[in-house]
Amino acid sequence: MNNIIEAKEQKDLISIIVPCYNEEKALPAFYREASKAVSDIQGADCEFIFVDDGSRDRTAELLQNFSQADRRCRYLSFSRNFGKEAAMYAGLQNASGDYCVFMDADLQHPPALLKEMYRVVKYEGYDCCAGLREDRAGENPLRSFLARSFYHIIGRACHLDMGDGKGDFRMMNRAMTDSVLELKEYNRYMKGIFSFVGFETKWIPFHNVERTAGETKWNLSSLFRYAMDGILSFSTAPAALAGTAGAVLLTAALLTGIISAVSGHGLDGIPLLACLILGLNGIQMLFLSVLGQYMSKEYMESKRRPIYIVKKKGGFPSQT
Ligand code: UDP
Ligand code: MG
Repeated sequence: MNNIIEAKEQKDLISIIVPCYNEEKALPAFYREASKAVSDIQGADCEFIFVDDGSRDRTAELLQNFSQADRRCRYLSFSRNFGKEAAMYAGLQNASGDYCVFMDADLQHPPALLKEMYRVVKYEGYDCCAGLREDRAGENPLRSFLARSFYHIIGRACHLDMGDGKGDFRMMNRAMTDSVLELKEYNRYMKGIFSFVGFETKWIPFHNVERTAGETKWNLSSLFRYAMDGILSFSTAPAALAGTAGAVLLTAALLTGIISAVSGHGLDGIPLLACLILGLNGIQMLFLSVLGQYMSKEYMESKRRPIYIVKKKGGFPSQT
């Protein structure tokens, strides 16, 4: 009888994973709003796993204060900035929830959606419920344009479901979480990984809001690197393109040679040939660099370096 009552009272645990890089301005509001939102969820408790990704402001200090004041709050502090992907992976590895959800610290992922996400994964039979950002209101127009183009290209190159607006804000059940953890690659591109592991995902739309405080951690060059990482991690299309372009250019070079020889113009053909040789060289260099990129990714994987290094952690049950 007692067992039955205990079983009935057993609540689910939702792990809220929050990567934080220099978020001292945003964190108090995030903690307040997220705590309010989870208190509204019946049938589940939550734990916060904050991951301080080598912040240089007071983020680590704030997280330590949270963990001392609230036993649901746990934190990891990295020894340096390893990037959001590494922070998400660390959060996942340290989460013990039946369900895990990723949230940005700047309130761009509305905590009010947590209740609906939990309802969907718990009762509707989905493995994952994810936020679909419907617009890019308030964002720098150049960034919006580049991001849209990138998602268009990556969708075609990788044959994976990684559309614009499909971000990291998602709640996954244990089965999907464990599958994501199975992918231990060094070059991590989480949006690709989510899509790669599959499972049933329900998308719920939300409007973009500007970050509550602090600044975005991305600039054009880091976004470009992130985009290249995504394409190179999940597609070999650029390398295949090198082969196709090489074949086309070789044919063009042969045809030009034959035409200039047959037409008997001799030297007149040289400027054209010179252009062609230069162009060919340029393209060869470009594609050598594409191949180099793949090799460098493989090189980093073969070193088997840790994805992140933890300097300090606090608030975990085994520590208290
Ligand atoms: N972030 C991180 N490490 C980084 C960059 C960002 O942990 O190297 C975190 C950041 O603190 C935030 C989330 O990732 O919680 C999203 O970052 P941001 O808001 O700067 O990205 P945006 O919304 O502009 O794409
Ligand atoms: Mg943001």
